[in-house]
Amino acid sequence: MQTIKLEELNEKSFLEADIDKAILAVGSTESHGGHLPYGCDTYVGYDLALEVAGKLSRTVVVPPLWFGMSLHYRHKPMAVSLSSETLSLVVKEILESLVHWNIRKILVINGHDGNIPSIEIAARDLKLKHPDLGLAVLDAWWVTAGNLLPENTFEVWNGLGHGGEGETSIGLAMFPELCDLSQAKGMVPEMDPNVKLVWNFQELTDFGASGAPEKATPEKGQKMKQVLVDYLVDFVQRMDRQNWRYERS
Ligand SMILES: [Zn+2]
Repeated sequence: MQTIKLEELNEKSFLEADIDKAILAVGSTESHGGHLPYGCDTYVGYDLALEVAGKLSRTVVVPPLWFGMSLHYRHKPMAVSLSSETLSLVVKEILESLVHWNIRKILVINGHDGNIPSIEIAARDLKLKHPDLGLAVLDAWWVTAGNLLPENTFEVWNGLGHGGEGETSIGLAMFPELCDLSQAKGMVPEMDPNVKLVWNFQELTDFGASGAPEKATPEKGQKMKQVLVDYLVDFVQRMDRQNWRYERS
């Protein structure tokens, strides 16, 4: 039987599948308020990875990374975190393993804000070391979904927030049995649109969440998931056509 999960393949089926592409989801284990599970960021990224890979050929999904850099969320019970340096190394070594087996078209789907710098460093280092590598990163699906959907999809803050309207909606679409909307509480911090004031999460909200999770619905979440999957499938097919290079006119 055909599988897209690396852990379910074996020597024979791996070679027969003639894999040339891999998707890695990077998540976290941390509080998202009382209404979303600790594993939210991994569940979302991994669900997207499996849906996307299922619509592509010669693509494998490697096991997701459940631990991310969550030290700025650790005031609430409870986070299990790597440091930025460790996370960067772990991501780099996972990607190096793929390259060693000649998988040179790689998509990383990140599920958590704290992972963005570490993934960027790992990806930059790897691309410098292997200039022929095709490497793409979706570093903030929560921003991308808002960009792709019609303007009026969300009621508050364009769906943003940690465990906010968008993330809670996609949770309701993907793992409703682990969501408890009766506990949904957040607040919207005032942020400068241009200059980033570096925060620890307790400065933004009294809760484990920010944004407006009480506005979440499974319908909004389904739209987010659909628009992201469609976009990523089209992106990978486009990259395959142009051999994972920029087209220059
Ligand atoms: Zn999250």
